[in-house]
Amino acid sequence: MTQRIVIVGGGAAGMGAAGAAKGTDPTAEVTVLTEYEDTGYSPCGIPYVHGKEIPDFERLFLGVKQAYADQGIDIHYETAVTSIDLSRQHVIAGGKQFPFDSLVIATGFDYADPGVPGSDLSGLYYVKNIRRAMEWDKTLDNVKKAVVVEASPLGLEMVNALVHRGIETHLIDPAPWALSVATDPDIIKPVEDSWVEMGAHLHFNTKLEAFLGGDGGLRAVATSTGEIECDLAVVCTHKVANNRLATAAGIASGSAGGIIVDETMATSAPRVWAAGDCCEIPHGVSKVPIQGLTGSHAYAQGKVAGVNAAGGTRTYQPVYVPWGVVAGKWMIGGVSFSETLATALGIPYVLGVGEGISRARYYPDMTPIRVKLLGEPGSLRLIGAQMVGGEGIKERADFLAMAVRTGITLRDLATMENVYSPPIGALAEPIATAAQNALSTLGS
Ligand SMILES: Cc1cc2nc3c(=O)[nH]c(=O)nc-3n(C[C@H](O)[C@H](O)[C@H](O)COP(=O)(O)OP(=O)(O)OC[C@H]3O[C@@H](n4cnc5c(N)ncnc54)[C@H](O)[C@@H]3O)c2cc1C
Repeated sequence: MTQRIVIVGGGAAGMGAAGAAKGTDPTAEVTVLTEYEDTGYSPCGIPYVHGKEIPDFERLFLGVKQAYADQGIDIHYETAVTSIDLSRQHVIAGGKQFPFDSLVIATGFDYADPGVPGSDLSGLYYVKNIRRAMEWDKTLDNVKKAVVVEASPLGLEMVNALVHRGIETHLIDPAPWALSVATDPDIIKPVEDSWVEMGAHLHFNTKLEAFLGGDGGLRAVATSTGEIECDLAVVCTHKVANNRLATAAGIASGSAGGIIVDETMATSAPRVWAAGDCCEIPHGVSKVPIQGLTGSHAYAQGKVAGVNAAGGTRTYQPVYVPWGVVAGKWMIGGVSFSETLATALGIPYVLGVGEGISRARYYPDMTPIRVKLLGEPGSLRLIGAQMVGGEGIKERADFLAMAVRTGITLRDLATMENVYSPPIGALAEPIATAAQNALSTLGS
């Protein structure tokens, strides 16, 4: 009998699940329900279209709608699911029932509610849906002054985008430095200095108190350090799991607020899987569940959920979270714990810091790189890393995530082999230098 697989959500997780389900069982009826007008586009590119590094929104689309129909994936656009009935095995959207044999929940994330007066004023931009982004992009042509609320990864990207766009840009954040959960002050310092050079106005240790309205919508942002007049506020608060449908259906969520899944992405309900930002996943080192990961995590989880929903067997690993972003004139990145985060969580560490260069010292456009490595005391197993540089950060973050995952130690990294080729790599690899410095500090 043909099995019916319903997927709620058309983001990275939902579309990963749909393709994987169809690939596992080509005879399955795969139905995707999404409240948006589109699927199969990269929201990650939106800030760069706003910043005019990417010329248009069209190139963010990965495929045309007909391509999904040709694969046999039945997508219902602008179709908000209002409830999941587990006992009758159907979901309800627009008053219509969609029966399922297997269900994948991929409802993604919401930006955390700023929780201050005026949060419903026009002039507040939550960057997410590409159609709304296209409309906002036209508005940006007339914006003179903008406030970015919180130095989250998206906040960092939006500061760059708005500055590139020639808009007077103010960043407010309650912490003493940008991206304070993930980074240490010495890593973010060059970024903050470059923002100032680029003309951005930074307001740290500054709490949002209200969005203030005027005749035409937003007039100003009230903060603990004063009012900032603006035409636009981009709300870049942290991501929270959108688990409302799952919770209402009695599916369990956990300590990080995401739907609890096992290694097959199965939820607490039979025949129901979940994937992406609506879930929480154990961190590989701390084993503590975490939520609000990235699009690449969402897509990979969606594929696992889709395969299993269609009758296959695939598992998902705990996560080590390599990350990287262009901020100001620099790239920053890392994996797992910074010094700040490790200290906040009470995780002991030994530290090695290395300064190096991205290419041979004589090769044009060589840039400096600073690498920090955190090792577990005693075993010296790598448990975290941070970097700032002009290039080569993504590749190092990916490599170091695999190093953390496979239990590589500072001792291993101190003697690692590396590519030396003038345009792409220097004689000394800064990761190895950081590890060697850690060992010499320890006297070993
Ligand atoms: C501006 C921006 C920049 C980003 N940059 C990066 C980046 O550089 N790198 C990276 O890895 N990731 C990036 N991301 C990805 C992002 O941070 C998430 O990790 C990713 O979008 C999660 O995918 P998801 O499918 O779990 O959820 P979402 O993308 O949030 O998708 C959720 C889906 O669920 C649907 N939905 C929700 N509720 C319902 C309902 N009741 N009924 C029907 N449909 C529903 C929505 O319509 C949507 O299709 C970016 C995202 C944004 C918005």
